[in-house]
Amino acid sequence: MWTRDSAPPSPGEPLPMTARATLVLAPNANAWTFEGTNTWLLAEPGDAQCAVVDPGPDDDAHLAAILAAAGDRAITAVLVTHAHSDHAELAPRLAEVTGAALRAAHPRLTAEPLQDDDEIRVGALTVRVLYTPGHTGDSVCFRLPAENSVLTGDTVLGGGSPIVKPGRLGQFFDSLDRLSEVLAAPGSTILPGHGPALPDPLAQIERRRQARLRRIDQVVGALAAGIDDREALVDHLYPDLHPDLRDAARVSVDAVLAHVRTDPDPLPTRGEPRR
Ligand SMILES: [Zn+2]
Repeated sequence: MWTRDSAPPSPGEPLPMTARATLVLAPNANAWTFEGTNTWLLAEPGDAQCAVVDPGPDDDAHLAAILAAAGDRAITAVLVTHAHSDHAELAPRLAEVTGAALRAAHPRLTAEPLQDDDEIRVGALTVRVLYTPGHTGDSVCFRLPAENSVLTGDTVLGGGSPIVKPGRLGQFFDSLDRLSEVLAAPGSTILPGHGPALPDPLAQIERRRQARLRRIDQVVGALAAGIDDREALVDHLYPDLHPDLRDAARVSVDAVLAHVRTDPDPLPTRGEPRR
């Protein structure tokens, strides 16, 4: 398993991560995607069918690597955690090549968008859909009830914090609450859309919640100190920012500003219901 204590696999080389989930790292590492997008192959052990989650960028070598990792198994479902191109770009082509059903929550990708709590059967494997908006409005996680692992897309990353769209920070906290409930089951593991697996999911979700709350606190503090210009806030909050990530930082600052300006109580404590 690739965890925080081990090196990532080479792009295209399949790495079994759990009994049912195999990682095929996409060759698209950059400042946005960390080591690259995690493409997942899901199958019940010994089964003749499998699903692919987040096929990644439209790249010939990656498509070939996915098909090779599936081997003799038929790919019967292509699942997408959200429609961002680093996760979904290859999905229509992979579905076409394999004849698999493409399942996603974004209506641009499918005529029948996924709904919360949908059950997807892949041979003998059951996959359950958790609607977890925040990073985007169409973000879903995929849970494997047989082993309590959850594929979180960009909602929970292996390291670092995802961008949360302005106006969706409240939903993002709700989604973290929901994931904490599901991941309280013994043996639960987070299989993220980027970065290593998280075998200690509750602690990791709590860290991310606290990091996000600290950011809100910093913005509230900066506003109180008279720093209310967006560029000045970006400089204040992200002093060592990689220039490629400035746009991302602007979106994050906008999200916090939208949150603190619309929410009379911007600092939720854990477990409080959020609206
Ligand atoms: Zn994304």
